[in-house]
Amino acid sequence: MKVVGFIGLGNMGLPMALNLSKKTIHVKAYDLSDEAKEKALDAGLNVLNSIHDVLIDIDALVTMLPNDSAVEDVFLRNGVLDSLEKTTLIIDSSTISPNTSKKVANEAYNKGLSMVDAPVSGGVRGAEEGTLSFIVGGNEQDVKKGSILFDVMGDNTFYAGDSGSGQIAKLCNNMLLAIHMCGTAETLAMGVKNGLNPIILSEIMKNSSGSNWSLEKYNPFPDVMEGTPASNNYNGGFLNELMLKDLRLAEQLSDHSKSDTPMGKLARKLYEQLNEEGLGDLDFSSIQKNYLK
Ligand code: NAD
Repeated sequence: MKVVGFIGLGNMGLPMALNLSKKTIHVKAYDLSDEAKEKALDAGLNVLNSIHDVLIDIDALVTMLPNDSAVEDVFLRNGVLDSLEKTTLIIDSSTISPNTSKKVANEAYNKGLSMVDAPVSGGVRGAEEGTLSFIVGGNEQDVKKGSILFDVMGDNTFYAGDSGSGQIAKLCNNMLLAIHMCGTAETLAMGVKNGLNPIILSEIMKNSSGSNWSLEKYNPFPDVMEGTPASNNYNGGFLNELMLKDLRLAEQLSDHSKSDTPMGKLARKLYEQLNEEGLGDLDFSSIQKNYLK
C-alpha cells in the first residue's frame, strides 16, 4: 500500500489522512468543501481539485464521510466505481446504515472491485493519535489487505463478519454508549440534587457495580474529571448531532430486524430534545445539562 486516495477531510478524516502520510504513504486527498481543502493543504496534505484525480493509480481508497447520502453521492452518483482500477481496495470508514453500506459494496463487487465497511471508534483524539479501533465488515481477505492501513491509523482492528457487519457492530456499540451516558448523567444528577458531591459519588460508583465507561473515562458532570469535554463547557469530543444520527440509524436497524430496543429509543428521544434545543454542536456528555435543570 504505497499510494492511497482519501475522500472526506473533516474532523476525523484530516488527522487520519495525515497519519497515513507520515508513514511514507503517498496520500491523494479530496473534500467537497473549500474550507476543508484549505485546512488540509495548510496541514501539508496533497489535496487535489477533482475527485477523479484522486482515483488514478491508487492501491486503496479511504472515505470518511458524514452520512449515507454523502457515501451514495461519492460512490453511486459520481462514477467513482467506474474510474477505479480493479486492484484498488475501497475502505469506507464513515458511520452509515448497514443497508447502504451493503448496497454500495454490492455495486462495487458487481464492477469487480473490493470494498469493506470499517467504521471507527475512538473519536477525534483517537484519529489524531492514531489509536482508533476499526470495526470491519466484508470479505476476510480484503480486511487482511486493509490491515496495513488500519494499523497506521489505529490500535485495534476487529473483524465483525460479512459486508455491513462493521456498521451493525458500530451501531450496537454507540446505542449502548448513549444508554450508559444517559444513565450515568441521570444518576449523578439525582445524587447531587440529594446533597452528594459528584466527585465522591463518582468515585463510589466507579468502584461499585454501577461502574461503566461513561463514568470511568468520560464523566459527564462538570469538573469531576480533568480533560473531559464536561470540564471544558462540553466543547470538543463527539457531537450530539452525530450521536443522534447514530441512534436514528440504530433505530432503523432495530425496526428492520424487529428487535425490541425501548432504551435505545428513549436515548434517541433524549438526544433529539438536546439537538432541538440548539445544542447539536456540543459533546454528547452534555446530556447532563438536561438533568440539572
Ligand atoms: P465532518 O463533518 O467533520 O467531515 C466530513 C467531511 O466530508 C467534510 O469535510 C465534508 O465537506 C466532506 N464531504 C461531505 N460530502 C462529501 C462529498 N460528497 N465528497 C467529498 N467530501 C464530502 O465529520 P467527521 O466528524 O469527520 O465524521 C466523519 C464520519 O465519522 C461520520 O460518519 C461520523 O459519524 C463518523 N465518526 C465521527 C466521530 C467523531 O468524533 N467526530 C467518531 C467516530 C465516527
